[in-house]
Amino acid sequence: MKLSKFAHSLNNKKMLINALTLKKILLHEEVINNFEKIKGLDLSNNELQSIFGEYADILIKEGFIVEEEVENNKINSIIEYLEKPQIQSLYLIVTTNCNLNCNYCFYKADASQSLCGVNKDMSISTAIKALYTFSKLTMNNNVNQESYWQQITFYGGEPLINKHLIYKAVEHINELKKEGFLWSGSNIVINTNAILVNDDFAKFAKEENIEVQISIDGYENIHDKNRYTKDGKGSFKDVIKGIKTFLKYGAKVVPMITVTDDNMEQLDEFVDWLKSEINFGDYGMNILISSTAETNNNYPENAAENMLKCHEFNLQKNGICDYCIGDLMELFNNDAIAKENCGISRKITVFPNEKAYFCQALEKVKDNELGSLDDITIDGIKQRKFKITRFEREECLNCIAIKICGGGCVAGSYNSNNTLKGIDPNYCRAIKHIFDKYMKL
Ligand code: SF4
Ligand code: SF4
Repeated sequence: MKLSKFAHSLNNKKMLINALTLKKILLHEEVINNFEKIKGLDLSNNELQSIFGEYADILIKEGFIVEEEVENNKINSIIEYLEKPQIQSLYLIVTTNCNLNCNYCFYKADASQSLCGVNKDMSISTAIKALYTFSKLTMNNNVNQESYWQQITFYGGEPLINKHLIYKAVEHINELKKEGFLWSGSNIVINTNAILVNDDFAKFAKEENIEVQISIDGYENIHDKNRYTKDGKGSFKDVIKGIKTFLKYGAKVVPMITVTDDNMEQLDEFVDWLKSEINFGDYGMNILISSTAETNNNYPENAAENMLKCHEFNLQKNGICDYCIGDLMELFNNDAIAKENCGISRKITVFPNEKAYFCQALEKVKDNELGSLDDITIDGIKQRKFKITRFEREECLNCIAIKICGGGCVAGSYNSNNTLKGIDPNYCRAIKHIFDKYMKL
């Protein structure tokens, strides 16, 4: 038997914690010292009894000492569970044009090229073709499995530049659902800056039950510092006006906040203010994809700290929850391990030129290309798997936060380390900080 890969000692060696279950046991320092000495050794039951005496049984029972083969099988089954290649999400890049020129747009990173090329709107025939491909790829999914989801996202550039296509595409989605080619529970999401919305579209969003995710980063002076037009004009007032138009017709609006050095300290009061201005349910705070913007050295830790503060404050005061922190908090208190938060291997992204990719943020990366819509099959996708889970990375297997960590963004790893299989520094450091803080380490 061996020391589990997931065993860690804490609090000046007074405690052991199992990173996979977050179970802790208090032990004498001497026992923990012995525990550390057996690292890498394979010991019989008798040898364990003689080293740990009365503690041996509990160490085995709580998974701190394990049969290596049993643990490896467990890791393999977790990897299979996390990365079962199954397409559940379609991103339609309905245009690569944008009415804004935001500082940290990920299309500006080296791994992307769409904003450097010829800007183009998607045609209706391409959208329809993409929807048929998506229906083909999702046809055999087991929609009865617990917490199954399926989603179609209108994305850009700024998708409302090509509103016309969205109306038509939604018509087709409804037809595909009616004919049984698309799961009737599939959600529709639009990711927009809301500036170009009009009454008709807002009404349509409500009628079609479209979730409208709107980027807004803080009070006017903060939002406008990063999100402005090509002429340098701030966009805050127009965004608020757009949000109000959506809300006038009762559409579901989800504010999406990119956390930066500029806005992090005011996140809690800003979300509170926004809630008093416009009535929304939950919201989302996103950490910057690594290396898409200049940040202070302690950006990830400070971002995490302020996201936690914002979540707790607004949960208590307004009963609203941040998507990311809300999910994370549950993981500290249940047996589940975090799902991978990178959508690669679950989604296909289709650009206006009819080319398909796994992810929109890695357009230039060869492995990310799926090719022509006609040729995509589930078997082909399985063979193309290039994303690895945190349970396949040595550094992560040794990490105490592995249960609650979603593994980070592949584009963040690529931008920072030029590899698709490495650590996403911003996300990784933020998660470790949240873990330490929550566990009071
Ligand atoms: S690499 Fe993954 S997490 Fe990052 S943007 Fe793409 S799908 Fe999202
Ligand atoms: S990405 Fe970072 S926080 Fe997450 S498991 Fe790996 S090392 Fe830990």
